[in-house]
Amino acid sequence: MSILIVDDSADDRLLLQALLSAAGYENILAADSANAAFKLLGLDGGKQSGARVDLILMDIVMPQMSGIEACRQIKAIDRFRDTPIIMVTVKTDPVDLQLAFAAGAMDYVAKPVNKIELLTRVRSVLRLVHEIDRRRAREQELLEVMRQLQEANQMLLRLSCLDGLTGITNRRQFDDFLDQEWRRAVRDSTPLSLIMFDIDRFKTYNDTKGHTAGDECLRQVSAAISSAVNRPGDLVARYGGDEFVTVLPGTAIDGAAQVAESLRRRVESLGITHSDGEIITISVGYACIVPNRHLSPTDLIKAADQALYQAKQEGRNRVKPAGLLSLVQDSHDS
Ligand code: GH3
Ligand code: MG
Repeated sequence: MSILIVDDSADDRLLLQALLSAAGYENILAADSANAAFKLLGLDGGKQSGARVDLILMDIVMPQMSGIEACRQIKAIDRFRDTPIIMVTVKTDPVDLQLAFAAGAMDYVAKPVNKIELLTRVRSVLRLVHEIDRRRAREQELLEVMRQLQEANQMLLRLSCLDGLTGITNRRQFDDFLDQEWRRAVRDSTPLSLIMFDIDRFKTYNDTKGHTAGDECLRQVSAAISSAVNRPGDLVARYGGDEFVTVLPGTAIDGAAQVAESLRRRVESLGITHSDGEIITISVGYACIVPNRHLSPTDLIKAADQALYQAKQEGRNRVKPAGLLSLVQDSHDS
């Protein structure tokens, strides 16, 4: 605890010093003018970084600069904004006190100084400052906790949208995304394409190479297809098991056919081999429609799924478009 006494009267300085020392305050500094105080606090432009003080007792009537002006100048410095200043003064009329408070003083003690009054005011000001510090620290702690909570929430939100094994978008988020893009496409009358694909003979791969190798294969395939689909509005998701989907908003059938074929080639070129030396491939089905009120996202999924089934039937490792008929059929069924 460090207290600075600023008073041009040597007697008053000594008296204050004696009273404070007797009350147990140890680190007491004294200055005989505002300028001497500035020097001590490092406010005189000198190289000194300045003493750290917890409280200033400031006389009002001093030659050269008054205590009120000194108080104003000290308070204008950022690092002293929270340092309490108690005016010690013979001038206790309301106008002077009003000026002192306006300059940033926290309290005043009348001269001649009464020991009990001085110590009571010093203690209550220090307690108040301590309480303000404590609350400010608590506020900072709360802000930090809030920041951490927000971060955790964002992380949870991200995780709830991602597939745990592959790190790509999960089925839940895919459903939401497709619904949203569907509604947008209905509004704008723009085409919406969906590609669905499934790893060929993956059950055999799992059975012969083991589940861990199977998981690693799913991760590699996910990474490869994510990098093959690169328009910002497109989405790649794990639909479930060894089945994946890609949504291509604003993309017509030719574009979907190109992306579908590039996905097939990308997986093939990974060169992941079965125990019998055969390379891991995918079968791909795709569909494209301009959504309208008579159709639903499920129709688009069903159409791509039927095309995928067709690709499997025709021998796997191939890309098949949905027949227009399947879409029309589905719209009548629903
Ligand atoms: P098809 O060519 O007809 O697709 O044959 P398939 O053997 O791939 O048959 P299917 O797609 O029905 O098999 C999916 C297999 O994927 C079944 C299961 O062993 C495996 N699988 C599903 N989810 C996971 C997973 O999270 N990890 C691993 N390692 N395997 C999975
Ligand atoms: Mg499969």
